[in-house]
Amino acid sequence: MRRVALALILSTCLTGAAAAQLVPPQNSKPAATPKIDTIPPARDAPYPGTIKLTVDASDVTRAIFKVHETVPVAGPGDLVMLYPKWLPGNHSPSGQINKVAGFRATANGRELKWVRDTLDVYAFHVAVPQGVRSIDIDFQYVSPTAENQGRVVATPDMSSIEWIANSMYPAGYFVRDIPIQASVIVPTGWKVATALRPSGQAGNRIDYPVTNYEILMDSPLIAGAHYRRFELSPDVSLDVIADNEQELAATPDQIAIHRRMVDQALKVFGAQHYDHYDFLLTISDYLGGEGLEHHRSSEDGVKRGYFIDWENHQRDRSSLMPHEYTHSWDGKYRRAADLWTPDYRTPMQDTLMWVYEGQTQFWGYVLAARSGMLTKQETLDAIASTAATYGPGTPGRVWRPLEDTTNDPIIAQRSPQPWRSWQRSEDYYSEGQLIWIDVDRIIRQQSGGKRSIDDFARAFFGMRDRDYGELTYTFDDVVDTLNRVQPYDWRGYLQKRVYDIAPIAPLEGITQGGYRLAFTDQPTKWIKVAEKTGKNSDLTFSGGFVVGNDGKITSVLWDSPAFNAGIAVGSEIVAVNGRKLDMMGDALKNAIKAAAGTGPAPELLIHDGEVYRTVKLDWHGGLRYPRLEKVGNGPGTLDALLAPR
Ligand SMILES: [Zn+2]
Repeated sequence: MRRVALALILSTCLTGAAAAQLVPPQNSKPAATPKIDTIPPARDAPYPGTIKLTVDASDVTRAIFKVHETVPVAGPGDLVMLYPKWLPGNHSPSGQINKVAGFRATANGRELKWVRDTLDVYAFHVAVPQGVRSIDIDFQYVSPTAENQGRVVATPDMSSIEWIANSMYPAGYFVRDIPIQASVIVPTGWKVATALRPSGQAGNRIDYPVTNYEILMDSPLIAGAHYRRFELSPDVSLDVIADNEQELAATPDQIAIHRRMVDQALKVFGAQHYDHYDFLLTISDYLGGEGLEHHRSSEDGVKRGYFIDWENHQRDRSSLMPHEYTHSWDGKYRRAADLWTPDYRTPMQDTLMWVYEGQTQFWGYVLAARSGMLTKQETLDAIASTAATYGPGTPGRVWRPLEDTTNDPIIAQRSPQPWRSWQRSEDYYSEGQLIWIDVDRIIRQQSGGKRSIDDFARAFFGMRDRDYGELTYTFDDVVDTLNRVQPYDWRGYLQKRVYDIAPIAPLEGITQGGYRLAFTDQPTKWIKVAEKTGKNSDLTFSGGFVVGNDGKITSVLWDSPAFNAGIAVGSEIVAVNGRKLDMMGDALKNAIKAAAGTGPAPELLIHDGEVYRTVKLDWHGGLRYPRLEKVGNGPGTLDALLAPR
């Protein structure tokens, strides 16, 4: 009876008259103001006239870039100039509009009125008077002068000059329809590298031929005092700018490895989607790191030591140049239809990032292994770490499917997170890699070793040699191409792996490919180097946390012993078992070892703000690090995948 009465009350509450009572009668109740977009949508029509853009990048001491643009106009009225918002390669609305300052618009020397669009703060409305044929735009891109403001792009020795941060374009046109002639001014004596080929030079100003706005945005520059160029193939070169001359000292063997990487990529993909390709490598302790793909170049920014401390830079080799180069095919040329946009204002949709980034992550490691950028053992060690991280290291698998993580570039924009293993992040990169390893395993096993994922790569990416436009695709195209290579229930497979909640990680490419994921008390070289360069101790599987050499906790695994002890990112470990934490975390590791089995749980003195507290780390499994162990005799599918062609 009570249940019936309650249902009756609820249904009464939901009727219109009762719902009105939700707002107290004395409260004011505004109506919604209609939001009217006054910015013309992009049309596929030729822009009337050629924009002239000059970027003065010579003020590297203050990192201020001065932009001047002359924009032809068809007539009087409202001209909308757009600063790029949705950035290709970032897959997110990450254009740094907050660093645009000093905006002015003039015509024949006369100031023009402008107002920013309040529905889209990346848009500037400029009132163009009668009789004006072109207007001039000036602004500064006041680039970060400290790391906490964003990526540092200018130092006294080099700069990273991205047209997309240093220009605006008129609304109303596909960006490929807007002709533009760009020039750059750099400090005296500096060399410039870019996929653009100059048309002239006058003093410190370099001019580039007329191209379209889309190609220009896709063709950034690096510039600096210390420069060296290496040819990697008839069409591919490696342009290096470094903090100093020593950092340019690549050995012939190292360059030979880069040549092999290019050669192995061409063997996989067949056709290439550039007329020429420039790796734009910066080696610097001051310029911000970078890995950004373009059709005909990539921005590859590493810390010092890339060549001269080769042993400790394995991660830079695996996940940078082979990865960004692969993007020329996967991501830049073949682009998901819902990701492709006609301008940088239309929102991007990242639903197929597990192809764009996932398969690129996959090829990055495969090409690294096939070329010798990584040894086979280093590659297996790296795959082991990935398998562990996205298996037991990602409890968030139980609530969030991989597909949902493709929204993360928009949701999180790579901001630091408190509980990454539970929230999940851009997991489509590395979990995508694991899925593609398994796809290769299935193709090889189903075809009796006759075909592999190389056949998919050639079929999906290797058409129309030298076409460096974009060829879009859908999920169905991926499934159809897989089926052409090897008939299988690919739709069902990808549904389960990508779109459904999948508490168990996709490790069959490893476990049915000739290896097993094992945990031992010895870290692999891959983990040791990561700890050394990251200045931390990775105890993710030895209690559930990563701690810096300064005692600061940088990661806590959800529902782990560390989590249960109340430790969070930002906490600091001050002492272990009553003794001050030494810099290398050795005391911590020794305490974890001593606790193995029936030993005493380590007591950690934790410091959070003004509070000190002692917690017990209830973990008795000792030190555990992931590695792959060979199963059975003879090569497995994973061995075949990593072998050079
Ligand atoms: Zn990528």
